[in-house]
Amino acid sequence: MGVKERYQKVDAELAEVCRANGRSRSDVTLVAVSKTVGPDAVADALEGGAHDFGENRPDGLMQKADLYPQAAWHFIGNIQSRRIHDIVGRATLIHSLFSEHHARKIDQVAGERGLVQDVLIEVNVSGEESKSGLAPADVPAFLALCENLPHLRVRGLMTMAPQGDLEVARQTFEGLAQLEEQLRATLAPDRAEAFTEMSMGMSEDWREAVAAGATIVRIGRAIFSDTFEE
Ligand SMILES: *Cc1c(COP(=O)(O)O)cnc(C)c1O
Repeated sequence: MGVKERYQKVDAELAEVCRANGRSRSDVTLVAVSKTVGPDAVADALEGGAHDFGENRPDGLMQKADLYPQAAWHFIGNIQSRRIHDIVGRATLIHSLFSEHHARKIDQVAGERGLVQDVLIEVNVSGEESKSGLAPADVPAFLALCENLPHLRVRGLMTMAPQGDLEVARQTFEGLAQLEEQLRATLAPDRAEAFTEMSMGMSEDWREAVAAGATIVRIGRAIFSDTFEE
């Protein structure tokens, strides 16, 4: 199987898992995480019907987003201040915001360019030390700060689950869904309307994420690696 076929296989299974959970396929965006592959593999995925791609480095984002502007490009990696001008405007959605300094800089650059940048707040639900993101208790204050930045629009939350235990992954995703619901209740109606996204689930745990309400899954190896085994 090539990239095109693997993309279509994941896409078909996603439709099945949505159905099994009483959800609509159109409620979940499948982001093909192309961070480990070159432009040719992106072309294969596009041929298979992919529309959304994820990159974790500004250089990969710039190269591929500029080659394939017909796709939507998501930035899912570590944000560095000095690269923010390369990400703003190019990324449809920045998934990995959790610092005040970065929030202010993204707002500033977006303002200079006359646009509003969509972002997600990354949350470290599991508390694993190796994971980045805010502790759940720190999210309300950070969201309030972001809501005051006119060129930033917070669309929801993002998390990564610990690897290797699907039960722990399920609890992590349910934790994010609970937090999202609590936060939405605190927002003004027009802001709550935009605060709908939950980016969670990767190659091994996306089924648990969809069951917990993910609106975006980020899948890399299951699409792009020919050695990936469930
Ligand atoms: C690499 C990466 C993914 C995709 O992981 P796979 O296990 O390859 O599906 C998803 N999200 C983030 C933030 C990543 O860095």
